[in-house]
Amino acid sequence: MSVSEFSLIEKYFHQQDISRKDVVLGIGDDCALLDIPAGQQLAVTVDTLVEGVHFLTDSSPSDLGWKAIAVSLSDLAAIGAEPAWLSLALTILKSESSWLESFSVGLFECADYYGLQLIGGDTSRGPLSVTVQAMGLVPPGAALQRSSAKPGDLICVTGHLGDAGMGLEIATGRREVQQVAQKDYLLKRFNRPVPRVSAGIAMRHIASAAIDLSDGLAGDLPHILTASGVGATINLDKLPLSTALVAQCNSEDAIHYAITSGDDYELCFTVAEEKLDTLTKALKSSGNDYTVIGRITGGSCLRYTQHDKVYDKDFTGYTHFKH
Ligand code: ADP
Ligand code: MG
Repeated sequence: MSVSEFSLIEKYFHQQDISRKDVVLGIGDDCALLDIPAGQQLAVTVDTLVEGVHFLTDSSPSDLGWKAIAVSLSDLAAIGAEPAWLSLALTILKSESSWLESFSVGLFECADYYGLQLIGGDTSRGPLSVTVQAMGLVPPGAALQRSSAKPGDLICVTGHLGDAGMGLEIATGRREVQQVAQKDYLLKRFNRPVPRVSAGIAMRHIASAAIDLSDGLAGDLPHILTASGVGATINLDKLPLSTALVAQCNSEDAIHYAITSGDDYELCFTVAEEKLDTLTKALKSSGNDYTVIGRITGGSCLRYTQHDKVYDKDFTGYTHFKH
């Protein structure tokens, strides 16, 4: 069954469980109107997911709905913002009700969980792509930025790295996993990333810089280094690797996944050593774990060490445009 544009918006995108008081005018008019609470700055981010580039052609629509929201929430997390509103630009080849139903269920599952209200968007016909603009709130001076890491700061990451890269291998059939619980865990890490929203908020005024890991540590950490004018040393022995990842490959491959594969949506952040206790308490009480994996240095090089020696290979993260 196919549905017209207006009934499509009404049917699949107008109903949401949460309804924020600061939304003066939501879906249905030419623009949305929002009350920005006094004493807060607006944090805005936009991300596009294109079929065949950012998600597999046979992805489940509900996973796609979840992930489209989660990746934008991960950007809000990285700056320490609290999620508030979102708009959605959806391009679809045909308006198929079963696809739209499943997509909107996944989308609202994630949006409702994080208190993000859908306030508008755009719907057009064409090759499948999903663009989400997420908006959040952060008090002036509290946003975590990429540009303020200092030599001597510790480099940390939340959670485990490399799981989503292995999940992609499983989803594309390049790797078979016998153990069902491990297979489900790794696929979930790829299909339904959990943005570290509470970690970002908890590390306001504690972390010196932060970024979310969408393109792998080797791709994303250099953004902090360049913006801050510093270098770094990463200790490969310290990388947080899940039992499920380690069970699928040798340790060198596991390290490779952890450093180079995208889609983990963990946070990488830096912190002055004297603030480590405060950080530990703040992250623990917000239900997040973290691992120290290296240190910011002077200069501009990113070095890796293993077993107390300089690691002689280089890593590259995911990039859309190779030159
Ligand atoms: P206009 O042509 O004035 O931009 P549209 O016909 O594109 O209006 O959209 C009508 C209303 O539906 C607007 O309020 C718009 O924000 C909203 N809308 C359109 N597509 C979506 C979508 N995919 N999700 C949520 N809201 C949408
Ligand atoms: Mg429009």
